[in-house]
Amino acid sequence: MTTIDPDSIVKDVPVELFIGGIYRPSSDSARISVSDPATGAEIASVASASVQDGLDAVGAAHAAGPTWAATAPRERADVLRRAFDLMTERAEQLAALIVLENGKTLADARAEVAYAAEFFRWYSEEAVRSMGTVQTAPSGANRILVLRQPIGVSVLVTPWNFPAAMATRKIGPALAAGCTVVLKPASETPLTALAIADLLTEAGVPGGVVNVLPSSRSGSVVRAMLDDPRVRKVSFTGSTEVGRRLLASAADTVVSSSMELGGNAPFLVFADADLDSAVDIAMVAKMRNGGEACTAANRFYVERPAVAEFTQRLAAQMASLRMGHGLDADVRLGPLVNATSRDKVASLVSQTVEMGAKVVTGGAAVDGPGYFYPPTVLSDVHPDAPVLKEEIFGPVAPVVAFDTEAEAIELANATEYGLVSYVCTGDLAKGLRVAERMDSGMVGLNRGVVSDPAAPFGGTKQSGIGREGGHEGMLEFTESKYIAVEW
Ligand code: NAP
Ligand code: MG
Repeated sequence: MTTIDPDSIVKDVPVELFIGGIYRPSSDSARISVSDPATGAEIASVASASVQDGLDAVGAAHAAGPTWAATAPRERADVLRRAFDLMTERAEQLAALIVLENGKTLADARAEVAYAAEFFRWYSEEAVRSMGTVQTAPSGANRILVLRQPIGVSVLVTPWNFPAAMATRKIGPALAAGCTVVLKPASETPLTALAIADLLTEAGVPGGVVNVLPSSRSGSVVRAMLDDPRVRKVSFTGSTEVGRRLLASAADTVVSSSMELGGNAPFLVFADADLDSAVDIAMVAKMRNGGEACTAANRFYVERPAVAEFTQRLAAQMASLRMGHGLDADVRLGPLVNATSRDKVASLVSQTVEMGAKVVTGGAAVDGPGYFYPPTVLSDVHPDAPVLKEEIFGPVAPVVAFDTEAEAIELANATEYGLVSYVCTGDLAKGLRVAERMDSGMVGLNRGVVSDPAAPFGGTKQSGIGREGGHEGMLEFTESKYIAVEW
């Protein structure tokens, strides 16, 4: 393993709250200990916001709101474009920071930084395209003018699995639309968010427009912000469980809510698919981010004539992945983010094995330090096994056989989640037919990655409300204003 010096990676990253353009400790001096999941060692101590700090941040965003909303779209676009350039220039430093606080591999972290930066570029291009409409009322009496105006102060809450991209996917469209924001990053990964705040300041974002508020008291701090009438929007990415709670809080003050929640993606392989490419696609859909992605393939359904061969080839590729510290360039699988996640994965696998599944590869947690779980493939999985029902969020692939297209569709849709589905087939017409019947917001058809800043990302059912990315992503941060006018 390469020698890793965490200090050289974190030394220039701010560790205080970022409110109104100023870094400051929390009002009660509380701190969060940030650690490297590959070693368990502390890498930084970051300020942990109190309720008072949350309200201060809302105040700063509210004060900065009118000027930012009145800033010419072209100017806002230029700022976002500079943010894209800076993020691209600093890709290597940011990637190393992400590896250190999240645990993912360097390749995954580099891909995340590139993806995250693209949200700044895409929304720099969208900022100047805030279109309204004009029409004649059906009665002919007047005109109907519809404008798109910034919705106002937005609270953004993000998870630890893509600490950069989940932040920029919200900050980009919010700033493009003319909103000011308070970002509450996950306690596991606050450093990346603070590094992005620094970069945005350098790109020309005025103080108060983006506030970053790490807090281990997320429940009370976010609640207080949503209760504040100055807040008009909450955009959340995280678990369905927390999303439900935020929707309930938002109901009290009728705050507009966008929710990107959990997934339980089915991955269908038809026997007419090219098996080599199906396995490659499966590896991407399963193992991007070590399985810690809301879009991760969670359940593999393979048409019976292909199931044995597919399982063997998938297991061979899984078993060949080298596990270790993400900063080691030869490593293909890092640790899980913390002990709780590792234990949850281990428990899902052992319960599934107790119900009769066979372990084709992997299947047992590895001793520490660090929170490692090996690449695992399970076959002959019982239909009621928890590994098929819950979001695994780790490097585990359960494989189940199916016999007919109708059965595959039914199995795929038998979940309360609806974020993404994957379909592999050599017959494009069949692929499109099945894709149309997937009850999910997104489908990967012979493709293991769907994420794209230009595309509407989001889910149906309990995977969420609203879309991020594309033109739709910016509309989430606007409100329509209708003016009935006679002239
Ligand atoms: P999480 O536990 O729901 O946390 C997400 C964020 O919410 C964190 O910033 C967390 O802060 C905060 N939070 C926790 N409890 C809260 C509360 N009561 N009120 C307000 N905020 C609260 O999710 P996670 O474990 O970080 O991330 C994994 C989940 O995110 C998975 O379910 C995954 O599918 C989902 N995800 C979805 C998408 C998507 O686009 N659909 C993308 C990525 C991830 P603390 O860290 O301080 O607890
Ligand atoms: Mg959490």
